[in-house]
Amino acid sequence: MGEIGLYLHIPFCVRKCAYCDFLSFPAGEEMKKIYASALIREIRGYRNAAEDSKVTSIFLGGGTPSLMPVRQLRAVFQAIYDTFPVDKDAEITMEMNPGTVNEALMSFVFDSVNRVSLGMQSAVDEELVTLGRIHTFEDVRKSVELLRESGVKNLNLDLMSGIPGQTEASWARTLSAAVSLGPEHISAYSLIVEEGTPFFRMKEEGSLVLPDEETERRMYTMTRDVLARSGYAQYEFSNYAREGFRCRHNIRYWKRGDYLGFGVGAASLFRGSRWSNTRDVDEYIRLSPDPGALVRGMERLNKRAEIEEYMFLGLRMTEGVSSAAFREAFGVEIRDLYGDVIDRQIRSGLMDEPKEGTFRLTDRGIDISNVVLAEYLLD
Ligand code: SF4
Repeated sequence: MGEIGLYLHIPFCVRKCAYCDFLSFPAGEEMKKIYASALIREIRGYRNAAEDSKVTSIFLGGGTPSLMPVRQLRAVFQAIYDTFPVDKDAEITMEMNPGTVNEALMSFVFDSVNRVSLGMQSAVDEELVTLGRIHTFEDVRKSVELLRESGVKNLNLDLMSGIPGQTEASWARTLSAAVSLGPEHISAYSLIVEEGTPFFRMKEEGSLVLPDEETERRMYTMTRDVLARSGYAQYEFSNYAREGFRCRHNIRYWKRGDYLGFGVGAASLFRGSRWSNTRDVDEYIRLSPDPGALVRGMERLNKRAEIEEYMFLGLRMTEGVSSAAFREAFGVEIRDLYGDVIDRQIRSGLMDEPKEGTFRLTDRGIDISNVVLAEYLLD
């Protein structure tokens, strides 16, 4: 029986953050109800498609899943358990926005979820205002307290560096505040100014003052050092965990394992094909009785694209890629395709070989990963 992960997209947010280009928007209670019914129809439509796949991770993302009423969350989960064999040890993550964590959610969290990912972003309230977040750092602290009281034993905090106006000192404050909350996992991403967002428009107008590249690099190094000293091992460019708490769902993405995405705009990679659902929520709701009609951009991956993706994603992980796994996945030797690149990068100190046949980027390699990874494109 193959293993599979499920992603459920909940597109609702209280309001849009200034940097956000995710598929999310504010919605009323009626819309949430209608959307949950569509999600259930879509999930149930997969009854015969993946019955021989065991679900080992579920990720409830968004948007803000914690905005969904508990009754609807329960109904969606019932549809999952009716449709798929879910492993009893499956990792089940729910994303939450600190401004929306409340007592009413906790019964669902207690019996349906075993990992919570909380969007803290910063410990500095002025930075949270700049980002357009709906919460303060005090809300983060209270949310963590409530989640712990409710029995959550696997907690991630999402942090963001590169915020307009952020300094090395304020980033240090955020890191130390995050560590003091005692999460099992920390994700630290750097802000990307995406087209179509208010930040993008401000950048075009010249009114967005971002930390310069050198400061960003020092923040990245600081993140690695502070978190390592606090017991969080880096296992991916932006992800750090205490022993035994790496995110199994995200590792599946990086290792190109199978996953099915449900909900508007959700992406899937399943048995060598990749597709996304329509990004139009009205269309999603209308077509949800026929999951096949939701599919956009179905693509059968060719071997070359799969190999390139395997290297890009695999080298993001600090364990790197192994020759044996590569051979098993593609039936060719990694050195036959990439021997020259690997040797050159090892000579330049961008890559090392911690044990024979395993290749990973060094800290220097990670610092200039855009350039380093581009060398794994096949001609
Ligand atoms: S809470 Fe997340 S998904 Fe919602 S608007 Fe902000 S960044 Fe986007």
